[in-house]
Amino acid sequence: MAVRGFEMPRLARISGALGPGPSDRRMYVVDALGKDPYRDPETADYIWYPPYPLTKPHHGPLQPDANGQFDHLEPGTREFSAAAAFAAVHCAFAVWEHYIGRRLRLVTRRGQRRLEIVPRVTKIGDGAWSGEGFVEFGFANNNQRQPYCENIDAVAHECGHIILKRLIGPAPKGRYQFERKSHDEAGADIVSLVCILHFDSVVNAVLAQTRGKLYSINILSQIGEYRRGHSGRRTTRKLFHDKTMAAVARARGHDKYVFAQPFLGAAFDILVEMYEDHLVQRGLIDTDLARRSTHASAKAHPRIRREFAARFKLNPDGFADSLRDATRDFAYMLALAWRKSRSTGVTFSRVASNIAAADARLNRGRYGAIIRRAFGKRRIAVRVGRS
Ligand SMILES: [Zn+2]
Repeated sequence: MAVRGFEMPRLARISGALGPGPSDRRMYVVDALGKDPYRDPETADYIWYPPYPLTKPHHGPLQPDANGQFDHLEPGTREFSAAAAFAAVHCAFAVWEHYIGRRLRLVTRRGQRRLEIVPRVTKIGDGAWSGEGFVEFGFANNNQRQPYCENIDAVAHECGHIILKRLIGPAPKGRYQFERKSHDEAGADIVSLVCILHFDSVVNAVLAQTRGKLYSINILSQIGEYRRGHSGRRTTRKLFHDKTMAAVARARGHDKYVFAQPFLGAAFDILVEMYEDHLVQRGLIDTDLARRSTHASAKAHPRIRREFAARFKLNPDGFADSLRDATRDFAYMLALAWRKSRSTGVTFSRVASNIAAADARLNRGRYGAIIRRAFGKRRIAVRVGRS
């Protein structure tokens, strides 16, 4: 798997009773065989709609063991894929519904009650899709030993599209459509990032690897693999690091993944600085180091990294708690900002302003300077006090 900390399968605990599939009251797995994708992988147009008819070829449904569990399965099997996909989808919605403060409607189409999860769709190739009433997954590099449905990053990204659509509403047609779609690619990555940071194994791996000094670039590297495959091209991480709107202007209208990069980069910068703010608050680094870390030139980075490493060694658990606290504040802020975006509409600037407004409401503006600086650097305007 692409995400560090997920090289080994993780056990997922799910509240509520599980049925065959696996399934529960809100979602179910159907392990379709030889299935045509619901949407055209080239144009994204719908070819047909869920639910997948059980008169068509499929495997399963998977039965739980005598204790009602699905943790007895062998990695590398279809059965494992089905259970892993269910667990990951469940996890993505559970994490975000916590921050949103309510259950989302997973399905809006008439005649369908539950979200359909199709774990292994060979005909999709290298990609994954979400849409009305379903998520379905292909394979990294078209390799059937690398199913995206077992990659929590890929799964959470697809669930992210559904979450954003429920919070903000459908994408408008016309002038604002492209920016909304670009925003949603960044937003789905943000959804995924918050989701994977809920796993201690990921938090510990990120911090051990960076020795406490996070940059948005190594945050991104945790979730980059899938996004890059998704866009059908390899984007250079180094460039991503400080992409401004001017640098991506030529992508407007045709490459939403590239156009999304300044917004995504700013969001990751914000999370990193929020984390450093928590480190200061816990007395794990001093304000002087945090300030130098924020404004450091590339030349000063090795020195700052060394200083962080020395502090990290003294209290790795405190660093992990700071990252968890920052993730929580970040997710609450985003959830509120996206809800507000339903009435303001989506441009990068409006969502950035909604994030600042959410911070003012939730944290009395604790992160206001961080938010304005991060978006300002990417040339995305934050208008405070304006809805
Ligand atoms: Zn996407």
